[in-house]
Amino acid sequence: MKIYNTLTRQKEEFIPIEEGKVRMYVCGPTVYNLIHIGNARPMIVFDTFRRYMEYKGYDVNYVSNFTDVDDKIIKKAQEEGLDAAEVSRRYIAECKKDMEGMNVRPASVHPLATEEIDGMKAMISVLIEKGYAYAAADGTVYYRTGKFKDYGKLSHKNLEDLQAGHRDIKVTGELKEDPFDFVLWKPKKEGEPSWDSPWGPGRPGWHIECSVMSKKYLGETIDIHAGGEDLIFPHHENEIAQSEAASGKEFARYWMHNGFLNIDNQKMSKSKGNFFTVREIADKYDLQVLRFFMLSAHYRSPLNFSEELMQAAKNGLERILTAAEYLTRLLKMKENTEDEMTSQEESLYAASKEYQDKFEAAMDDDCNTADAVSAVFELVKFINTNVSEQSSAAFAQKLNDRLNTLCGVLGILTEKEEEMLDEEIEQLIQERQEARKNRDFARADQIRDELAAKGILLKDTRQGVTWKRA
Ligand code: AMP
Ligand code: ZN
Repeated sequence: MKIYNTLTRQKEEFIPIEEGKVRMYVCGPTVYNLIHIGNARPMIVFDTFRRYMEYKGYDVNYVSNFTDVDDKIIKKAQEEGLDAAEVSRRYIAECKKDMEGMNVRPASVHPLATEEIDGMKAMISVLIEKGYAYAAADGTVYYRTGKFKDYGKLSHKNLEDLQAGHRDIKVTGELKEDPFDFVLWKPKKEGEPSWDSPWGPGRPGWHIECSVMSKKYLGETIDIHAGGEDLIFPHHENEIAQSEAASGKEFARYWMHNGFLNIDNQKMSKSKGNFFTVREIADKYDLQVLRFFMLSAHYRSPLNFSEELMQAAKNGLERILTAAEYLTRLLKMKENTEDEMTSQEESLYAASKEYQDKFEAAMDDDCNTADAVSAVFELVKFINTNVSEQSSAAFAQKLNDRLNTLCGVLGILTEKEEEMLDEEIEQLIQERQEARKNRDFARADQIRDELAAKGILLKDTRQGVTWKRA
């Protein structure tokens, strides 16, 4: 399996630190608002990559943080007259709902910056001891970028050139030694959340969070660190500077960055109003369509979001789901038939492996989901051509398994929860009434739970039982 490594600017064979295991860290969102569709891109593409590594047999420890202390969160809290913690708690919950809708699996751990402050203070202390950081008179602690000789290795920037370009910038009001020194610890301002520290009360800078959480949950050297390409500089460059100076070891071996999502060929921006939250998209489309749309491009390419492209994604997804539904229907019809594949079916089934091989080759080539999706379309076409009511159940089952496996790697759900019909609901409610009359409360409760699981809520009223869909 090859991965394009931003650090070396080439595709490299993936060799994990520990055989069969992958330690992966993905920078998560700052939670001050509903996530937008740009934030959804790294979530979807790296979730897909995680699924593919698991498909290949790796045990993946996947960590993704929530940045829950930050200027934007504090500003929002002040606007709403709330506590910053309330704001972040609310948007973490909303973000998790969106993730579920997009079928993005929860990470192995979702650490919160505010719960890792001790680790951050400890790493900052080590950096000061080693001469890589200094506390200024106002209580700000800065990282001394000039001391870290590899600074710029990820973004391929040369610190001296950067400094030359900034020679005339006066850093007024700041007590930095150098304009490229960045903040590790900020002193408290009135009305802001703060923690005690050896440098006075304050809060951590953004970059130190990820260095500390990655180390705590994955160790000093990890396999893969990922995020959007806007994070390469300065965020990831600074993470490397902090972690490698503190541990003396390589921080991450492979760096993966997704390209940006634009809207109608323009950068998304709130001021221009060309901006969508995932929630807004969910009003119009099943979020599976958004997921499928994201996967139809290579993760490193810029991707343009438009109505037409979403419609095309919807149609494409529909084609796959129609084939999956057809197989499911056929299998239901043949539920009690014990049969085997004919020899012709045997060879057809063997031939269909070609699509799975193509799928794997695409995913092995730096997670090329665009080509992997094409391989799924080829398999769908093969199914449409070769399966009919005359096919054996065994043949339909095998092809169904193959299709489900590939869709599972892409995180595409092929089996829709079938909505219960009104009569089925009424019938179960009647059965529940009977059970209650017979004092079989266990059965009555079981029916209520069964209905609740399908989103049907019951209400006992004086006139009888009423129900509604949640
Ligand atoms: P943020 O909350 O801004 O730190 O962003 C969380 C993640 O979303 C980071 O990995 C960003 O790089 C990524 N991201 C933000 N905007 C976009 C966009 N328009 N396209 C793709 N990724 C984005
Ligand atoms: Zn980060």
